[in-house]
Amino acid sequence: MADHALDRAGKIQTVTGVIDPNTLGITHIHEHIIFDQSAVYYEPHPEFPELGEQLLSLQNRWLFERNPFNNRDNLRFTDVSLAAAEVQRFGAAGGGALLELSSTGMSGDPVKLRSVSEESGVTIVAGTGWYTRQAHGVDLSARSIDDLAAELISATETGIADTDVQAGCFGEIGLSAPIEADELRSLEATIIAHQHTGLGISIHPGMGDQPLFEILDFLKARQVDPQRVAIGHLDCFGFSDYAIDRVADDGYFMAWDNFGSTHFMPTQRLAKPLMHASDGERLRVLRRYIDRGHVAQITIGQDLSCKHDLVTFGGGGYSHIIANVIPMMRVLGFSNTDIDTITVVNPRQFLTIE
Ligand SMILES: [Zn+2]
Repeated sequence: MADHALDRAGKIQTVTGVIDPNTLGITHIHEHIIFDQSAVYYEPHPEFPELGEQLLSLQNRWLFERNPFNNRDNLRFTDVSLAAAEVQRFGAAGGGALLELSSTGMSGDPVKLRSVSEESGVTIVAGTGWYTRQAHGVDLSARSIDDLAAELISATETGIADTDVQAGCFGEIGLSAPIEADELRSLEATIIAHQHTGLGISIHPGMGDQPLFEILDFLKARQVDPQRVAIGHLDCFGFSDYAIDRVADDGYFMAWDNFGSTHFMPTQRLAKPLMHASDGERLRVLRRYIDRGHVAQITIGQDLSCKHDLVTFGGGGYSHIIANVIPMMRVLGFSNTDIDTITVVNPRQFLTIE
């Protein structure tokens, strides 16, 4: 329960102000709109030595898609007009809102997000917090946990960094495998800020079961309400069925947030090879959790964070879920109620301030 929920309890904080949750509509639980992920760039495979510095084109788009983090141009997107056109397509397809989680380390830009929201007419909720240590490279160890928490609280109450654009959720909160000490400090501060403000927490867990279990234990030890936390990347970070079962049984929001992505990265940089599921595989897993009674915890998104995914550059853009995934759900026998619960009700519940 929040002890200082201002007058926002029961509302949703967007980049343009506070709104009634019932106006939200179809919502993606995890996206990036203005981003710079240069910090997670790594050198391309020796077979494609020139890929790192190439500009994205229709001739090399396939290579970019298969090697998304091995090209600098692919990782950076900061153009407001193009972003607004991309997001507007989502609105035109019937989309309501995008949760933008470019936390510190992904170079989010809340002022640009507000412009994108105003130009596109689509609701955008901005996250705040620290992404993985590798990405933000900031030494948090010299600052007290309370000081870090105060920065997060200020981001939600007066504005992110030196802007007047308020965050509507904490995230994505980055943790690596193994989890770094600074990342636990970030999580600790986030929990304090969450308890103070009543805003939800979106977690980017480290790859593999062990870091995930450490995070769940950490949250539980601090009595964080699992219904205020979304555990992300369940479709791409190599979790066992056993681990995902625990996320489900503990009552967290579960985010299958990489719909549309089919990356395979057999990389030297990651804790284990990153192998994405196909959309069909994702939906079969969702079906299983619906059948087990967990539909009220399921959320989805595209985690769009590379240029090659944008329509401007030959990708599916933000309307992939509406254009392709929801029709696939119908083919697989998801009821209209289930689809509405997953795409509208659950993200609304997560974003509504306590
Ligand atoms: Zn992430």
